[in-house]
Amino acid sequence: MFEKGYIDESYVRVPREELFSFVVKVLMKLGVSEKDAEIVADNLIMADLRGIESHGVQRLKRYVDGILSGGINLRPNIRVLREGSSYALIDGDEGLGQVVGYKAMKLAIEKAKRSGIGVIAVKNSNHYGIAGYYALMAANEGMIGISMTNSRPLVAPTGGVERFLGTNPIALAAPTREKPFLLDMATSVVPIGKLEVYRRKGKPIPEGWAIDSEGNITTDVEKVFNGGALLPLGGFGELFGGHKGYGLSMMVDILTGVLSGGTWSRHVKNTSERHSEVDHFFMAIDIGAFTPPEEFRESMSRMIEELKSSKGHRDFEKIWVHGEKGFLTMETRLKIGIPIYRKVLEELNGIAEMVGVEKLKEGEEGA
Ligand code: NDP
Repeated sequence: MFEKGYIDESYVRVPREELFSFVVKVLMKLGVSEKDAEIVADNLIMADLRGIESHGVQRLKRYVDGILSGGINLRPNIRVLREGSSYALIDGDEGLGQVVGYKAMKLAIEKAKRSGIGVIAVKNSNHYGIAGYYALMAANEGMIGISMTNSRPLVAPTGGVERFLGTNPIALAAPTREKPFLLDMATSVVPIGKLEVYRRKGKPIPEGWAIDSEGNITTDVEKVFNGGALLPLGGFGELFGGHKGYGLSMMVDILTGVLSGGTWSRHVKNTSERHSEVDHFFMAIDIGAFTPPEEFRESMSRMIEELKSSKGHRDFEKIWVHGEKGFLTMETRLKIGIPIYRKVLEELNGIAEMVGVEKLKEGEEGA
């Protein structure tokens, strides 16, 4: 059974259903409707199932803080401000990003079914979790899905030291004969959540992820949190393409914040602040409008098979394709439970105590 990441005795396993109902109950206690709480829980738990610990239930505290501080509007009036047959502009009314994102991608899919393509720009939302969640919604309907969001400033542009850009992720999902292709990535070397994981574990970060406040490459996670910045995809300087990574990040800001009339890069705020003004972009493409869907799936599968059977490098076990590790990890975790880092479990149970729901039980050890 394959599983992404390194799971040892500092983790405990919790069954998916137990974790899902826990997150739903916590959010409902805070005033979120059952339907909305289920959307948020599904998004966070999909991250954990797919091995994206940085965006799983360890983030619940952030959302709880956002709700308690009034930064998140629990009963938003998510509305279409403008629309045509194949596009719409949505105001998320500062609702939970997952709820706004889910509704927006649903609309993109509906429009694509009717007119071949659906493009939705969203303003005034909040942190929406993993970008791949929404791209997969379209792939599950046999379409190509694209999803992007801007996020608070954490990344220094090439040549700069200041946190200016967000880690602005991009996801694209496309159906194949089997599991969809799913590219889901931050436009920084790593998202900030990965540093949070290292911080919790008290480990130094790998060289090349981030700089300190003076611009030195650092492995000291505290220096990054205290005024340092993340590096764009491609890393430091131009040699390995940092300028291209930061260009991709700007592309995301253009399609999300600038296009929607929202905001961008350094002006995006934390979910716990009022008017965090996170913006998203969604696209669904009805494959049948361009090419027979069966042919598309067939070509996708052949491309992936040919790629995977191309000559491998001696230092690598195999060639992986985007989404593959995540789907395998998901299969494993649905069977044996989701590994939760003990300190995260304690934090979750602290939240349970605060809002008055039953605590999560310590399941089996993760190792
Ligand atoms: P990763 O670096 O873990 O993975 C990026 C992509 O590469 C995934 O599609 C992954 O597929 C794939 N992949 C991994 N290893 C290989 C390989 N050897 N060969 C081919 N493909 C591979 O992602 P990030 O750390 O950059 O991002 C993690 C998550 O954080 C994403 O879900 C992103 O949406 C989210 N995020 C959200 C933000 C927000 O503000 N809401 C901000 C930034 C990031 P697989 O999943 O199968 O491993």
